[in-house]
Amino acid sequence: MSDGTAFDGHAISPETRAFLDKHGKLLIGGQWVDGSGVMESRDPATGLVLAEFETGGAAEVDQAVAAARSAFDGPWRRLSASERMNLMTRLARIMEQNARLLTELDILDNGMPGFIAGLTTTNCVEMIDYYAGAIMRIEGSTMVPPRHITAETEALTYSLKEPVGVVGQIVPWNVPLSTAILKLAPALAAGCTVVMKPSEETPLSALALGQMILDAGFPEGVVNIVNGLGGEAGAALAAHDDVDKISFTGSTRTGRAIIQSAIGNLKKVSLELGGKSPVIVMPDADLDLAVPGVAMATFFLQGQNCMAGTRIFAHADIHDALLDGLAAFADGMVLGHGLDPATQQGPMVSAVHADKVFGFIERAKDAGATLVAGGDRLDRPGNFIRPTIFTGCTRDMEIMREEIFGPVMAVQKFDTLDIDAIAQLANDTPYGLSGSVWTQDISTAHRVVSRVRAGHVSINCHGAVGTNIPFGGYGQSGWGREFGEAGLQAYLETKAVTARL
Ligand code: NAD
Repeated sequence: MSDGTAFDGHAISPETRAFLDKHGKLLIGGQWVDGSGVMESRDPATGLVLAEFETGGAAEVDQAVAAARSAFDGPWRRLSASERMNLMTRLARIMEQNARLLTELDILDNGMPGFIAGLTTTNCVEMIDYYAGAIMRIEGSTMVPPRHITAETEALTYSLKEPVGVVGQIVPWNVPLSTAILKLAPALAAGCTVVMKPSEETPLSALALGQMILDAGFPEGVVNIVNGLGGEAGAALAAHDDVDKISFTGSTRTGRAIIQSAIGNLKKVSLELGGKSPVIVMPDADLDLAVPGVAMATFFLQGQNCMAGTRIFAHADIHDALLDGLAAFADGMVLGHGLDPATQQGPMVSAVHADKVFGFIERAKDAGATLVAGGDRLDRPGNFIRPTIFTGCTRDMEIMREEIFGPVMAVQKFDTLDIDAIAQLANDTPYGLSGSVWTQDISTAHRVVSRVRAGHVSINCHGAVGTNIPFGGYGQSGWGREFGEAGLQAYLETKAVTARL
């Protein structure tokens, strides 16, 4: 570990330094407790050890679920809506005051560039305020009472919205704080209690968040955080009989395992899974906009982004000009440490993941795709892969079918103007998370959008997510929606009540 308020020569705040020097524990029942194992977190840009943290397995998950259950049945249930709102608002302010700590932890743990980490911290604060504000707007409705009752007497039928209960939240590593908050904020607003399992690759920002939750004054056991391995802590949480719902973000493969684990007590399941999103560039696209937009559709967050637009369908009329622009953009990207403000692309999250991504690149070369940018690794410490572009791709190539989760773009040329044929290209995937179309013709844009089978489609931009905008997948990209009103409803049950008057 480095000394002072610097990490490998980059300035970090004294708060971040102090945090890294502490041994991260498990948050169970309002206390920081030891786990049954210890792991190291590494900076993917340097390979240096950042911090050690405790991990839990089935026994710790059991304790955390018990704590969440007693908070749900006890103090949390008894708080008024406005008290719940005030606690969330207090948490948002504490996070705002500690934004630099949260931002630096995600940069160091995940490798993301500072401009992305800063943005996600700001969005997290907004997300908590948004769902705090939604608490007072949780509403049921009134209905016509059943005929067999009104035949005899007056009656009143209405519905109530109630929290689902104890929720297990399993979080991936690609945007650690952001994914934690987009699950936590609506769950707390709904009145649920939570056991969260962060990714073993990026445990740190969740631990800082846990301390802020304690400082805000949430009753003990409302939020419990158990770091650990997916196959141990994650699997135990997904299978636990006293968990009422699992909200999972991660790979489609793990999503399937979660469904199997949830069968025992038929807990509710929300899944935000993988993607292989299409980007359609029509012949009339404004290339000044499309070149950086399409490039960042793939390379944002070094491609470790579920929404990444990685299948680019370029019309033959603009294919060459688009590719020239994309190659120049990719070649010009500044790779480096996320703490360096000049950095536009960071490293892959781990050496193992970098090897996996690089394997896709090697096999794409072997399969005959034409390399137009990148295709290699940086000769320096850290898991850096250059932004890579292949064209001449065909539908059956692995890079057109598999989620790579790295900075690898696959371009396929098309020459039709038939919207249905273009949509067929876009929809030729089991996934359906995101997508975009680039054109100056508003009718073409909306015709394409109406045919693309994905939960989130953008016109002349890509991945335009926001706190209030529903997000989730068609097909094998998931079940349910997060963000916005839909994200809150995912943590609410509906109870119908009839009163015989
Ligand atoms: P992953 O599925 O390997 O792991 C995600 C989480 O699940 C981690 O916390 C992990 O420890 C845990 N886990 C692993 N095996 C488990 C098991 N058997 N039971 C319970 N939990 C288990 O995914 P990842 O590599 O961390 O993240 C990358 C994937 O996440 C990509 O496929 C990406 O598309 C997807 N993702 C989707 C969204 C979305 O909103 N749709 C957002 C971000 C990432």
